Amino acid sequence: MPISEYTNFHLSRDPRGVLTVSLDVPDRSCNVFDESVVAELQTLVDEWEHDPSLRLVLFRSDKESGLLAGADLLTIRRIRHRQTADQIVTIGQKLFDRLERLPIPTLAVIHGACLGAGLEFALACRYRVARDDGQAQLGLPEVQLGLLPAWGGTQRLPQRIGLAAALPMILTGKKLTARQAARLGLVDLVSPPEQFESDLQRFITDQLDGIAFQRTEAGFLARFRDGTRLGQWMVFRSARRQVAPQARVYPALPAALRAVERGVRDSHEAGLAAAREGFVDILFTPTCRNLIELFFQQERARKPSTWLPAETTSPRTIRRIAVIGAGTMGAGIAQLAAYHGYDVVLKDLDEGQLTRGMARVRKRFDEAAAKGRLSRSDAAARFDRIKPVVDWDQIGSVDLAIEAVSEREDVKQQVFRELDRYLEPGVAIASNTSSLGIRRLAATTGRAAEVAGLHFFNPVHRMQLIEVVRSEETSDETVATLLALIRRLRKTPLVTADHPGFVVNRVLFPYLDEAVRIVCEGVSPEEVDRDVRRFGMPMGPLELLDHIGLDVAADIAAVMSSVARDEGPTQATLEAMVARGWAGKKSGQGFYHYRNGRRGKPTPVGDLLSRREPVRPVSDIHPLPASPDLPGQQLRLGSILIHAAAQCLEEHTVSEPWMIDMGMVLGCGFAPFRGGPLRMADQRGLDRVVSDLEQFERILGDRFAPSDLLRDLSNGHNAFYPDRDEDGQPAIEHTESVPERISLGR
Ligand code: NAD
Repeated sequence: MPISEYTNFHLSRDPRGVLTVSLDVPDRSCNVFDESVVAELQTLVDEWEHDPSLRLVLFRSDKESGLLAGADLLTIRRIRHRQTADQIVTIGQKLFDRLERLPIPTLAVIHGACLGAGLEFALACRYRVARDDGQAQLGLPEVQLGLLPAWGGTQRLPQRIGLAAALPMILTGKKLTARQAARLGLVDLVSPPEQFESDLQRFITDQLDGIAFQRTEAGFLARFRDGTRLGQWMVFRSARRQVAPQARVYPALPAALRAVERGVRDSHEAGLAAAREGFVDILFTPTCRNLIELFFQQERARKPSTWLPAETTSPRTIRRIAVIGAGTMGAGIAQLAAYHGYDVVLKDLDEGQLTRGMARVRKRFDEAAAKGRLSRSDAAARFDRIKPVVDWDQIGSVDLAIEAVSEREDVKQQVFRELDRYLEPGVAIASNTSSLGIRRLAATTGRAAEVAGLHFFNPVHRMQLIEVVRSEETSDETVATLLALIRRLRKTPLVTADHPGFVVNRVLFPYLDEAVRIVCEGVSPEEVDRDVRRFGMPMGPLELLDHIGLDVAADIAAVMSSVARDEGPTQATLEAMVARGWAGKKSGQGFYHYRNGRRGKPTPVGDLLSRREPVRPVSDIHPLPASPDLPGQQLRLGSILIHAAAQCLEEHTVSEPWMIDMGMVLGCGFAPFRGGPLRMADQRGLDRVVSDLEQFERILGDRFAPSDLLRDLSNGHNAFYPDRDEDGQPAIEHTESVPERISLGR
């Protein structure tokens, strides 16, 4: 193929015989391996295998987003047959084997994303060099999609960096910065942007001059672990123990481990075969399908056109942000904004609060530097972007204000009045409120169109979701501005209506309420939390309440009582606990005791209920519905989550089921492998869901009465996700073949 005929690659050859192959997949923001990239790479490798004049091949990307973000997930999502999956994996494995065996040196130049199949590709090159500008990400995140790295990553990564470093990357999807990758020997050269090109040229010249690159010798421990049967046995035994508890719901974990083990114990070919078989087996599991759909939901959420009319006004430019309140959330928001290049003014009531807030910010930057995500000087420079102030007139000119003061309407309204007075006209004010109505806050200003909710989750730096709450008056321009901010903060937005609890708390609170009711019936917090963790939540509901703070939870419960169908003991119980000084983790006791922030024994149920009548679990009086796949309290709590999610949709807080599912997974860790409460409902079958709710309703009360939407869908044999994927593609394709342009290789 003549050089000019490649669609995805631009080639240029210098007189020394160095071929630069620049990848730029058209109409994509990131390079990915799709059918055409694979076909063209096959043609290139065919040529290089027979070109003795070539002395070095250098791969790089023309896109600022990175070298390669992975395999094209749309292609993977469309696979419906095992045979097709097997063929696609075989193609990639053979292609990368041939690339690795080329007699000429190959060099992958890494910046930005080098993930999944992108890293597997880079590992098949002889050398890897990386630009250290804080943006590089190297990793194999396949398990996070319920998949495993099937194009050789399970073989080449352990060979390159050793088992002890490779297994956590393969089994958790952990990503590395350029510097972390260099420390592990995954990249051979790491260099700051200003001297990157000259260092790269020196590296190339050394290769051409025959100066072999010397890799650091592995230490004694690494040689024992990787190079002896006993060492390998110990590493694999410990890894097997680690994945065992999750193996049933995340089958990719044992499958990936098996592929690594076969490669280490038997051969490269045996390892690849195990990876191929594992990939084909797990691709069709509900876990994998649910996780892939979640990926596409996030992609969809990040597009402004999902939330706004296509011809909407453009966002306002934001450079300087005022954050009001330097508590847990305000400090977190200020740190996140400064990390991503915004100038921040952080205001609180007095110097003491500010000092504590700035100490939180500094701690986060120190952690980022310690983990190698930022250099010390960069962390210090970003920290310096935050200016702490006490007086309103020190705020100066800003492009956006984010309010994160205590959750009291009178306090927030006062702050809104002040902000409205100090800010220039047109500057938006966003509230981080968890439960208060945005419209009522906006009413205290003369700029209701520029007021919205911007609901971050705790901890801010870790939680992926931000709810954007628009009141009836919030303008498209304000929403567009907040979406642009969220994009730059690298988070995922969920735009909701101004209804109590928005999406996440609307669905979460009925479930937390039910958990407290169960405890009030005499079941121990430990038992409830254990059942829920087994369901797949990162923590149980009572631990979560302790985490949120029982005082905060009682306030939110009061707001949420407007949507509750029958009054229960929750709010009174929480208030009684707070009155005894048990406000949760921060006060050292809640549903559990805490010492140095670590959870200890549960507070005895008798103590929690000391001023109440002795109680018996409802299940002792009436047998509750049971289901072997949702044992213990799982069916009751799972049913209330599904029910609340269906109500939230019925109330038009958002317009589509996937928005609620994505919100629950990203906002509160709803078991990702179940795909969200509404997808879980579909997978259980809506008639079963309705029948369970009806039985609970008979015994426990009106709050379980299935909503009209659930009944209608169930009566019509319908589902929340009928037969279309999130992007409108038919869920099932009937014809399928391996694309003709891709050959199965040699
Ligand atoms: P916090 O108590 O840790 O911090 C509140 C800060 O606001 C304090 O430092 C206080 O001094 C300051 N403040 C109070 N009045 C002020 C005023 N008039 N001007 C300037 N500063 C003032 O509270 P938090 O947990 O950070 O919560 C803040 C907001 O974020 C609340 O609306 C809360 O509902 C919401 N939120 C909290 C969480 C969470 O888990 N903590 C999660 C999501 C949202």
